Amino acid sequence: MKKKVLIVGTGLGGLSTGLRLASRGYDVTFVEKASKPGGRLNQIKKEGFTFDVGPSFFSMPYEFEELMQDCGLSMPFDFVELNPLYTVHFSGSGKKFILYKDLDKLSQQFEFVEPGFRKKIDAYLKKCEQIYNDTVQTAIKQNFDSLPAYLMALTKVNPSHLPVLLRSFWQQTGKYFSSSEAREIISLIAFFLGRTPFDTNGIYTLLSHIEFQHTGYYNVQGGMYTIVEKMIEALKSHKVSFYFNTEIVDFENANNRVKSLIDQSGKRWEADIFVINSDAAYFRGKVLKRKKYSEKRLRKMHWTMGYLTFYVGVNTKLPQVEHHNYFLGSNYQDYSRNVMRNPGVLEKPYYYVNVISKHNVTCAPEECEALFFVCPVPNLLFKTDWSDKHEIVNSILTDFSKRIGEDITNKIVFKQIFTPEDWQNQFNIYKGAGLGLSHHMLQIGALRPKNYDEKFSNLFYVGGSTVPGAGLPMVVISSKLVTERILKFSAKIT
Ligand SMILES: Cc1cc2nc3c(=O)[nH]c(=O)nc-3n(C[C@H](O)[C@H](O)[C@H](O)COP(=O)(O)OP(=O)(O)OC[C@H]3O[C@@H](n4cnc5c(N)ncnc54)[C@H](O)[C@@H]3O)c2cc1C
Repeated sequence: MKKKVLIVGTGLGGLSTGLRLASRGYDVTFVEKASKPGGRLNQIKKEGFTFDVGPSFFSMPYEFEELMQDCGLSMPFDFVELNPLYTVHFSGSGKKFILYKDLDKLSQQFEFVEPGFRKKIDAYLKKCEQIYNDTVQTAIKQNFDSLPAYLMALTKVNPSHLPVLLRSFWQQTGKYFSSSEAREIISLIAFFLGRTPFDTNGIYTLLSHIEFQHTGYYNVQGGMYTIVEKMIEALKSHKVSFYFNTEIVDFENANNRVKSLIDQSGKRWEADIFVINSDAAYFRGKVLKRKKYSEKRLRKMHWTMGYLTFYVGVNTKLPQVEHHNYFLGSNYQDYSRNVMRNPGVLEKPYYYVNVISKHNVTCAPEECEALFFVCPVPNLLFKTDWSDKHEIVNSILTDFSKRIGEDITNKIVFKQIFTPEDWQNQFNIYKGAGLGLSHHMLQIGALRPKNYDEKFSNLFYVGGSTVPGAGLPMVVISSKLVTERILKFSAKIT
């Protein structure tokens, strides 16, 4: 008899795990709180405009290739490489930097602010590559069965990286670069991890290797949601069932196993194996009522920042704007030190703008453009009242208009805003912390909420808040790690 698996959540973590299990002959069913699949990897399609809702690019595309190979599929979507990677605009000086992957071209951008940039970036990236090579297999792509096993693995990491471990991302860039522009731009990537360069460990400079040399960034032909659509198609070919608007709120156990999960209407969902794609810490606290994840304890954990995102359709073309753009102010250090906790920073917000219609013309009507703005903001632990969202959004739109030399405020034909409250309510993202639990050194590896349950042997977890961490490639790796555990468990219960 086929083993029945119930997966709670259709985020990338749930879908990838479902695909790995269905292709191995498991009988997979999904329940999902939202009305459509994808979780944070989602889409808004309205009035002729199509927007990516969360992720707009990703690194390490080979993790998707590994997933498809593991499931016996050829790649169902086409990658679009980002080259240049993105642009960075500073206010005040009005300087614009184009981040090329070609290091010679990149260096030409920086020589005038950071003499000797080429030599410096080579030295910096060499160290980043060494950190990447020495940690990725040992500490990231592994299941650890115990804390001692994890600590043992860490002892195998080259001790020459120890001084980096004692520095922040910002301090580590200071070992190589002296200009504020070079340090600010190179450390921007810490924001991709949902924290700032000042509270992200220097070891994460390994991300600069991924960004500039290892793979760079990719988008998907047709927009990011194509990933979800193609995965759903593949799952349906395995006769997988989906139930939307179904939120798991309770459970029933028999001895050391989960017997059923219970939804908001009281319906019981039975299976042999349960996989939770809801946040691994939040679910343990809210649904399983574990003391270690009580509300008091959850609040004390290290969460990522919130995101204020908004989706704007304009009835004009914007040739002066690239596909991926960062707009920074002139107070990077002060801003970064405050953005996690102090709503005051929103008087002069920093923001990212993605123009999806640049590379996917079908995402906007003719002579129109689809713009997606992301502004880092305090999560709901530090800013609970979002009644000022229109004020903040309008100030960003005015600032953006000034900086691109064209007033778009009177050309807006569609606008939708998501505050951290919306992110929380739509997808059960704790306190609207955009990337979930942060990659604080005490919340990674064996110290992150585990991908298997402490008490119930048939209950597993996948996604950004369990191992190895947040971001699309990490979530795909998470599906590989949890599948390994499920296969081992299944072998025992036959
Ligand atoms: C604004 C933003 C921008 C981002 N940009 C990028 C980017 O450019 N590149 C990148 O790599 N990453 C990016 N990320 C991070 C990336 O989106 C996440 O790491 C990843 O999508 C998380 O996938 P997941 O499967 O772990 O969880 P989710 O996508 O959150 O999926 C979990 C699913 O479970 C459902 N669920 C939760 N609780 C229950 C329940 N009790 N019952 C039923 N269903 C439930 C939710 O509704 C959701 O659909 C971004 C995130 C945000 C918010």
